[in-house]
Amino acid sequence: MSVTERQLPVHAPMNQFAVRGGELVVGGECLSLLAARVGQTPFYAYDRALLRERVATLRHVLPPTVKLHYAMKANPMPAVVGLMAGLVDGVDVASAGELKVALDAGTKPHEISFAGPGKRDAELRQAVASRVLINLESFREVAVLQAICSQLGLPARVAVRVNPDFELKGSGMKMGGGPKQFGVDVEQIPALLVSIARAGLAFEGFHLFAGSQNLRAESICEAQQKSYELALRLAQQAPAPVRFLNLGGGFGIPYFPGEQPLDLAPIGDNLARLAQRAQAELPDASLVIELGRYLVGEAGVYVTRVVDRKVSRGQVYLVADGGLHHHLAASGNFGQVVRKNYPVTVGNRADARERETASVVGPLCTPLDLLADRMTLPVAQAGDLVVVFQSGAYGASASPQGFLGHPACLEVLV
Ligand SMILES: *Cc1c(COP(=O)(O)O)cnc(C)c1O
Repeated sequence: MSVTERQLPVHAPMNQFAVRGGELVVGGECLSLLAARVGQTPFYAYDRALLRERVATLRHVLPPTVKLHYAMKANPMPAVVGLMAGLVDGVDVASAGELKVALDAGTKPHEISFAGPGKRDAELRQAVASRVLINLESFREVAVLQAICSQLGLPARVAVRVNPDFELKGSGMKMGGGPKQFGVDVEQIPALLVSIARAGLAFEGFHLFAGSQNLRAESICEAQQKSYELALRLAQQAPAPVRFLNLGGGFGIPYFPGEQPLDLAPIGDNLARLAQRAQAELPDASLVIELGRYLVGEAGVYVTRVVDRKVSRGQVYLVADGGLHHHLAASGNFGQVVRKNYPVTVGNRADARERETASVVGPLCTPLDLLADRMTLPVAQAGDLVVVFQSGAYGASASPQGFLGHPACLEVLV
């Protein structure tokens, strides 16, 4: 290995999956047999045991009074939502479509909250009729809910989504601070609270979500701290005691070379301090954190079969049967500024000694259809199974499956 090679940042080890007889083991099954069982490639596989383990790890670190919610937009596969619903304290939905999946999964209405910047009247009506908590994101929603409540003769349970006056530093995707389409600016919250009281809506709390995909514990702690202080100030003007204080989430997972897993311990300590304060300062409130990718992202793989192996002017291309249309994020086209490789391997040759530099591309007629750009991979041939790790969140449902008319992928929970 040359000096320059050694200095290159590498992917965090993907040792959540064992290797047996040279094959990656997913859901207790060797990858080739799993592929045979699924009956086609490409597919996503989500490992039940890893999902359970992740929730257990979090429970161990979080103070027992802090409620853990699953933000199901990260992975809305009904079987996954069903499993998660049984493990967490609540499910956060972002559309009436997700609300249906959460209710079908058996989530109790009082454990569901509904956020999103453009809730249509029909969605708000469904939410009121379902008796779930609605995270208000505009003055308009107050007026619409008032009308719906009088039509249905039901109360509307609401929390206020606050667009804070700070950002989550080092966040992959900022969703609070500055001008934003999410929530209501903190400066406008006093007026919103007055209109909620006038409309007779049942105020239950505040929701703050500053950003996503953060790997810096100190930034997350700082955002939680500031969110708590802000909510405490706003609570003085609220028409009813705060029952839920959703401090957001933003816990990230390592995707790219050089990224390290999030250190949970300081976050657990910080939340324990806040939970203790809340007992005195907001005695009716439960603290909530809502996580998507951190709960499901590392438990999933995307599996695609090599259709062809080509060498173009010295560069090896493994042409696979799946790509951007199933896994937009791994192709680098889901919000990344500079394209970087997800961790990838050849799952049926996982511990092969013989390696080479190869690119994995998909079948689409666009150079954007790239799953691995000149990575060091086990030497692979047509028929081998390429695996993209860290694929349990923002995969199938966040990809343009119809683009170019190739077959859809399957999803299995194993
Ligand atoms: C998307 C979203 C989440 C989940 O974000 P992750 O990065 O997947 O944890 C949580 N809360 C809200 C309000 C969201 O919009």
